[in-house]
Amino acid sequence: MNNRLYDCIIIGAGPGGLQAAIYLGRYNRDVLLIDRGGGRTRHARSIENFLTHKSISGNELIELGTEQAKSFNVQVIKGTVSDISRKDYFEVHTGDHIFLSKFVIVSSGVYDNLPPIENVHKFLGKGFFTCIDCDGYRTTRGKLVIIGNSLKTVHLAFGMKQMFTKDITLVLYTDKAPAGYKEELADENIHYIVGRPVKIIGDNRIEAVEMRDGRRIECEVIMSDFGFKLNDSFLSGLDLKRDRDNFKYPVNVHYESSLSGLYIVGPLNTGPDQAIVAAGEGAVAAIDIKKRLLEM
Ligand SMILES: Cc1cc2nc3c(=O)[nH]c(=O)nc-3n(C[C@H](O)[C@H](O)[C@H](O)COP(=O)(O)OP(=O)(O)OC[C@H]3O[C@@H](n4cnc5c(N)ncnc54)[C@H](O)[C@@H]3O)c2cc1C
Repeated sequence: MNNRLYDCIIIGAGPGGLQAAIYLGRYNRDVLLIDRGGGRTRHARSIENFLTHKSISGNELIELGTEQAKSFNVQVIKGTVSDISRKDYFEVHTGDHIFLSKFVIVSSGVYDNLPPIENVHKFLGKGFFTCIDCDGYRTTRGKLVIIGNSLKTVHLAFGMKQMFTKDITLVLYTDKAPAGYKEELADENIHYIVGRPVKIIGDNRIEAVEMRDGRRIECEVIMSDFGFKLNDSFLSGLDLKRDRDNFKYPVNVHYESSLSGLYIVGPLNTGPDQAIVAAGEGAVAAIDIKKRLLEM
């Protein structure tokens, strides 16, 4: 047990956690930021929708943000939070330490479910995308394959066609054709096939998708739609409210969860999943914590 009482512990050094850290550091508060390394933002090879950056890699965004937070005396440590409990204060557990804090901001993000297709990691963020808001634009007028396993994937195809490209092949990674959507797909002139893609073909750029039955679908870009999982196992000891699907965490306008003093920013809450949104939420949470620390 480390007896130092922090004003706020932040879990996760993505855009949400770092922005909160910068605000709280600039209030001269005692802040600890715990991050296990890696993270989703680092997969983004080029972020083009973050104000003032025509293009910045996720890695650079995180490195610059971490330096900025440190410059305002935020203590940044590498560690994996395994559990949080609450007595008089929050107790944040890592493998070998328990840290005490008045407030906690959870900004531990999510990770994408990727289909078991050869070369997915090679092309992730480089022609193989998972997010319409992040990367839809990059498919503009391209030869696109959309791969997914739900009706949401069919809706994604309609959206992609309306905004980005008319040249779409929808690959439904399922055993059943999408009942009730055949006509709409035909009306929209979206070709679809049902089956298992096994390999993405290409050296420096995507050339095609190979199916298990040997078919080859020529394409330049791929949009994948298999959802994501939350990095939230350490929250299981807290009785937090979940949304209707028992998946994400509802928060109030300050991004405070159903547990007083515990804030959740970024894609773990029910809002959109974007770097600049997570950063904005981190700022809002930090401003609210500043106010509550003053009231204390
Ligand atoms: C390929 C790709 C491209 C993208 N492109 C864009 C884009 O162009 N524009 C855009 O706005 N968004 C983009 N995104 C989405 C963006 O990265 C996320 O929306 C954004 O990162 C959310 O930030 P975050 O702060 O929640 O967390 P993350 O970046 O996910 O960071 C969370 C951090 O928490 C840490 N962590 C998790 N669990 C623990 C634990 N138990 N203990 C300690 N630390 C923990 C992780 O290691 C990680 O460092 C992209 C995502 C991907 C995958």
